[in-house]
Amino acid sequence: MQIMKVCVFCGKSPPEVKITREHVLRNRFNKVFTHAWGEMDWNQKYVDKTTGEFIVVNRKIPQSPFDQTINDVCKICNEGWLNVQVEQPVEKYLDCMVLGKDVKVDVEACALLSRWSAKTAAVRGLVDPPPYATTAEEFRWLMEELKPIPNTHIWLGRSEARTKTYVRHLKLKHVCSYVYMPRMPTTYGHLTTIAIGNMVVFVLACSSTKMFNELQMTVNEFKKAPLKKIYPEGLNFNFHDLPEISHSWVVHLSSTTNDAKPKPLVVWFAGADI
Ligand SMILES: [Zn+2]
Repeated sequence: MQIMKVCVFCGKSPPEVKITREHVLRNRFNKVFTHAWGEMDWNQKYVDKTTGEFIVVNRKIPQSPFDQTINDVCKICNEGWLNVQVEQPVEKYLDCMVLGKDVKVDVEACALLSRWSAKTAAVRGLVDPPPYATTAEEFRWLMEELKPIPNTHIWLGRSEARTKTYVRHLKLKHVCSYVYMPRMPTTYGHLTTIAIGNMVVFVLACSSTKMFNELQMTVNEFKKAPLKKIYPEGLNFNFHDLPEISHSWVVHLSSTTNDAKPKPLVVWFAGADI
C-alpha cells in the first residue's frame, strides 16, 4: 500500500496539490558558489528503532550538497511563499556571506535570515529517518508565522573559507522522567549547523522553555564563540565585524550538546552531516 504523501507545510495532498522535490539548500548555490564540491560525505549515526542498535553510516555520495532534495513539499508552497517570502529576500545576504564579502546586516535582515535558517533546518531534518525533530504543528507555524518556532535561538558567524559545505542536524530527545508525571510525552528539538563558504548559522530549536533551560551548557559554548546572535532579538552589524571562526570550532559547536551532556534528560539521538 502506498502511503499518501502530504505537504509538510500546508498539509494538503494529491490530487489537490502536486508534491514536488524541495531542495534542502537551493540549487541556485551551485551558480553562486562555483568552487563547491560535487560530492558529499554522508555520516549518519542513529539508534535503530526495532533493534535498539546504534548505527553508524559513512559513505560518499556523488552529488553536490545543493542538489539534495526531499519529497514532502507541494508545488504551491515550493514555488509560492517558500520562494517569494523565504528564499528570495535573503539572497543578497547569503550570496555576500557565502563568498566572504562584507554586507550590512540590520534587525530586519536578522529576521529574514532567521526565517530562512529555521525553515532550512526543519527541511534538512526530513532527510533523516523519523521521528522528526520538527512536528506537523511546527511546520505549519513556520508557514503561517514566517518565523522560527518559540524557543528557537539562532547564531550567525563568519567561518574559515571552505569549499566543502558542512551541514549537521543533531536531533535532541527530551525525555520527561518526573516520577509524578510518567505520561509526559517525549519531545524533540534539534541543533542544526549550516556552513557554506564563509557563512555559518546554528539553529537551536527546543520543544519547550524547559528543554532550552536544560541546555545552558550548550548555550554557554555559543556565548564563548565570536558569533552574533540573530534570534530571538536581531541587531545591526557588518558581516566583516565578525572575527573568523575556524572550521574545527564550527564542528565543535555543531556537536556541543553531545559534548556538554547537560543532563541525562537530554540525550543525543541522531545526527547526520553532509
Ligand atoms: Zn504545501
